[in-house]
Amino acid sequence: QNTGNDTNPRRPTRSLKGRVAIVTGAGSRSTGIGNGRASAILLAESGCAVVCADLNLSWASQTVSMITSEFGVTLDEEGFKSKPRAIAVQADVSSEEDCQRVVRTAVETYGRLDILVNNVGVAGPVGTAVEVSKRDWERGMEVNVTGMVLMAKYAVPAMERNARDDVSGRGTIVNMSSVAGLVGGNPMLLYPTSKGAIVNLTRAMAAHHAGSGIRVNCVCPGMLYTPMLYSGGMSEETREARRKRSILQTEGNGWDAGLAVRFLASDEARWITGVILPVDAGYTAAPHGGAEE
Ligand code: ADP
Repeated sequence: QNTGNDTNPRRPTRSLKGRVAIVTGAGSRSTGIGNGRASAILLAESGCAVVCADLNLSWASQTVSMITSEFGVTLDEEGFKSKPRAIAVQADVSSEEDCQRVVRTAVETYGRLDILVNNVGVAGPVGTAVEVSKRDWERGMEVNVTGMVLMAKYAVPAMERNARDDVSGRGTIVNMSSVAGLVGGNPMLLYPTSKGAIVNLTRAMAAHHAGSGIRVNCVCPGMLYTPMLYSGGMSEETREARRKRSILQTEGNGWDAGLAVRFLASDEARWITGVILPVDAGYTAAPHGGAEE
């Protein structure tokens, strides 16, 4: 085994064995694959213990049972012997108390915390500045932006207790933004505003916590077809139009967001921090589409 030195550094691995992750909004309405659920399942596939936090306990439990039915109920490696592979925790990310409890549960159950996936995001309220009520606006910002800050507030100190590893640092955070946070023209107001805030929240946090060996990155999914959308009964025509708006002209889904989350959370991204990663089939690269054939 290559243990590493200056001229022959240790080979990084993609395994997340022995790591502990929290995914917020890890549930999903229906049995579909949302961004949070996909992230939780893929992290578990790579060996992580996953704390699935969600406002809706039964939706989070559904994610846990998807994980355990595929990968087994318990983790058998040293340090984790017979610990559950995933657990569900009811929490509202806009509540500071709940965020603190989620982090405490992760540490009490698994002894450490390595990865935080700040995935929760709500779409509404809809409407322009003229139409929106102050209360609805503040509630939306509280869930989409403040929730990520509150989760980090308790997750970072927990990660700082990890021994610093030259490859993995002490921990890592992935925030879920959207291409709606990168470009204008969105019919909604709260959604693009909060997603834009998450972009620079990510850069600021990356700078603040780099000294502790904590990487902070952001994923900006494009027009993925997720439960948030199909529960609203999106028409086939709209689906097709959305598909055509990206240069790859294919439809993505929750797995695409989850794959990017897992990459950024893993040692494969060990030299990447403060990055805003569009996962959008080329939509932001070429908003007016590709060349005609
Ligand atoms: P997706 O299509 O990405 O799965 P959903 O809206 O179906 O989108 O799922 C997002 C998840 O986030 C849901 O399981 C929902 O219960 C959860 N969620 C929404 N608001 C909060 C909140 N304030 N705190 C924690 N989880 C939340």
